[in-house]
Formats: sequence, C-alpha cells, structure tokens
Amino acid sequence: MIVTRFAPSPTGRLHLGHAFSAVSGHARALESGGRFLLRIDDLDQGRSRPEFVDGIYEDMEWLGLHWDEPVLVQSQRTDDYGAALDRLRERGLVYACFCTRADIAQSMAAPHGDAAASYPGTCRPLHDNPERRAKTPHSWRLDSAKALEIAGLPSWTETDGGRFDADASQIGDVILARKDAPASYHLSCVVDDAASGVTMVVRGADLRPSTPTQRLLQVLLDLPEPTYRHHPLVTHKDGRRLAKRDLAPTLAAMREGGVDGIRLARDLLAEKLPLVSHFATSRAGP
Ligand code: GLU
Repeated sequence: MIVTRFAPSPTGRLHLGHAFSAVSGHARALESGGRFLLRIDDLDQGRSRPEFVDGIYEDMEWLGLHWDEPVLVQSQRTDDYGAALDRLRERGLVYACFCTRADIAQSMAAPHGDAAASYPGTCRPLHDNPERRAKTPHSWRLDSAKALEIAGLPSWTETDGGRFDADASQIGDVILARKDAPASYHLSCVVDDAASGVTMVVRGADLRPSTPTQRLLQVLLDLPEPTYRHHPLVTHKDGRRLAKRDLAPTLAAMREGGVDGIRLARDLLAEKLPLVSHFATSRAGP
C-alpha cells in the first residue's frame, strides 16, 4: 500500500507541472489501494497567500483529485519542526549563522569560487554565543561534514531507476531554520513526510537535487525512508520549463478557457506530454 502526497506552495496559482505531479501521485496511491494526501507548504509567509490556498483546492477539485484527510498545513506545525531542530542541535549537528545574503554572495564571488557551491561555512567555527544570537538575526545551518561523519553518505531509491548513492558534493550546510521561517523546506518536508506516513515521494525532477539532503536528515532524525519518483517536467514546446514567474498557463486560466479538467488529468496520466506542451504553448500568452 503506497501513500503519496502533493505538497504545493501557495505562492501562486498552480500550472500544468503541478497538475502532472498531483495526478501521478494520486494514481500511484490509488492503484495500490493506498492513500493520497495533500499538504500546504506555506512556511514562506512573505509569499504565501490565502487566495492561493483556495486556488489549490479549486484546482484539485477541477482535476477530479480527492485526497485523504487531514490536510497538513505547514504553518500550523512549527512545534514539530522546532522539536526536530532541537534533536539535531543536541547532537551538535547545527550551528548559528550570522551571514547576510550579501556576505554569502561576496564570499562566493572569490576568483576560484564555484557559483553553484553551497554555503562556505563561514560561521561553522564560531562558538555558540547566545548573547549575540539574542541580538542579531541569524539562521540555523546543518553542519554537513559532522552529519556525514555520523550518518555516512545517504542513498535513495527511485521507483523507476534503482538505488542511488549521494555524492558529498551534493550536500552542504543548508539552512534548517531562520528567525522568520521556523523551518526550511528540507526540514519541514522530512518531518511531515514521516508524520503523515508517506511511503513514496512523487515530485518533479527539479526537486531531485533536494533528495540527498533530505535523505541525510531522515537518517539523522531516525525517520522512515520513502521511495522517490522524480517525474519529467512538463515543458513548453521549445523545451523551457513551466514556471510561475514565466507566465506559464495556470490551471485556473485553462479552466476559464473551457478546458475539461478530468480529461486533462487523464491526458497527463497517459503522459501525453507533447500534446500538453503544445497546448501550453498555444495558451501561454505573451
Ligand atoms: N512545496 C514544494 C514546491 O511547491 C514541493 C515540495 C515537495 O514535493 O517535496 O515546489
């Protein structure tokens, strides 16, 4: 019995890529007689909006996708994330970081710096200083070197691709919490997937790079290991990926344009992607 979840962030209206994730996850769960869950990833309070939460429910309804209750709303679960962070802190696996975005950007701009590199660890050697923490905005980062020493390199299973071993370069000192965000995506995601009994994470291939870090956190927090299906992204006809900022056609616009949601869900399930991406292009607007 497979338990999957769809976990959109209510920072805009859903587009075809989201629909593909939701439809795929829903089908995997139902085929196995399992459960399909919905989670609202609204920890980014600066960008999350109640009207986008309503939009998620409307779009799911239109696609004919029903979910098992309860819906997990991340902004209501901050105690659980705090408890997970405490467990990591007690084991000396996190440190306070006082760097601003500008500090980090500057250190990354060093002549031999790799633009894609993760945080350089500037604050890692600092001793904990509660007084400074009380006065200065800071975040909490994973001490990835220590974490890897304890847990070893994580691995994971892709449902369509076998077993993968993470590479140490894929795991950095990621942020786990900030003053304005009680948990990062990585931390909240693993805590919630475990709390709701998710056994298969179905999401777009753009989130595959998150998997090594999330698997490491699962090992450190002693959480069960789900399998992963990172599905291909729905693209425009010219291969560009759909993105909210890119005026991708929203499901709401398609609905208003007279598209049948149930039929669209069926086409997505059959992975009729050329048809879908053609459709996307022809309705994409400017
Ligand atoms: N909330 C994330 C997003 O909308 C997805 C999280 C996940 O599926 O792991 O991109």
